[in-house]
Amino acid sequence: MSQLQGEIPPVVLGVDVGSTKILVGYVEEDGTVCRSQCYPMNRRNQQAAVAAVTSAVGDFLGQPWAGGAPLAFGMGLVGQTDLAGRTWIQCMNIPVRRPVPIADLMAERHGLGGRIDNDVHAATLAELRLGAGRQTDDFIYLNLGTGIAAGLVCGGRLVRGASNYAGEIGHQVVEPDGAPCDCGRRGCLEPLASGGGVIARVREALGDARSATGPSSVLQELSVQGRLSFSTVCQAARNGDSLAERIADRALRALGIALVNLINLLNPRLVVLGGGAVEDRLIAHLAQWVEREALPAARAALEGIVPSPLKPDWVGLIGAACLAWDHLRDQERSRDPCG
Ligand SMILES: [Zn+2]
Repeated sequence: MSQLQGEIPPVVLGVDVGSTKILVGYVEEDGTVCRSQCYPMNRRNQQAAVAAVTSAVGDFLGQPWAGGAPLAFGMGLVGQTDLAGRTWIQCMNIPVRRPVPIADLMAERHGLGGRIDNDVHAATLAELRLGAGRQTDDFIYLNLGTGIAAGLVCGGRLVRGASNYAGEIGHQVVEPDGAPCDCGRRGCLEPLASGGGVIARVREALGDARSATGPSSVLQELSVQGRLSFSTVCQAARNGDSLAERIADRALRALGIALVNLINLLNPRLVVLGGGAVEDRLIAHLAQWVEREALPAARAALEGIVPSPLKPDWVGLIGAACLAWDHLRDQERSRDPCG
């Protein structure tokens, strides 16, 4: 989208819909976030969840804004979306059980054209256009947050799969008969190593310890203070808390297994980590695991495991905006097929 000097830069509306929050913002084509606001997600039922999304967008658009009107919208949603970029098909973490025509709702209620996609696919597009993709055409974007999922980029293209569901590595079984998962099976990566999964494993262990009058753990205190997270549990493990060590080791082992499987499968040049749980020690641990366990040829091609160069809080929003810019480019092309 060209821009003349002195003109107000064109923006699109990005909407990043996660399982706990909805981030809405105006974003320029180079990924600059001009203005953004966070709203809570409502997970009571499907209707409440959809209403939370449309009312967040309505509130944001209704606020005074000195820039131009958004040219289109892009929306990343947790769960499965259709290949056409119009329908939110289903979601495990938010109770979406029937397809929601969310692109049509955006057109009807807010007069905006655009497209939707899975939130991790959207973040991977941001990475492809404005982050790691500037360095290589073959990378894995691994999102470690409340849940776990991956964006797979091969030959400069995001792998979508037959029904836009590729990359659900959080449901790779890494511990047969392990912890129960929201997907209805046992031993998936997500209930062991996601932020939410680690907290659930701590609560489970603290419950068992109380009933067995087991040894006390600093995790008990963190739980009461509401400070349990992947990083606080890892910190407690490093300080020698034996329960924290057990849970952190299990999580790190699960992540190591899953990542090595992915590397052996896809032969990437780079692994990019995004999401709330990324820290240097975690990266060092994963690098050691890959060094030890990955197939030599796959390991030799891998140049590194790196944190995303994009701001973790904004990568999903910028990715959502990438969808809107793609939508505008496709529209332009369809108007001028020779252009
Ligand atoms: Zn699962």
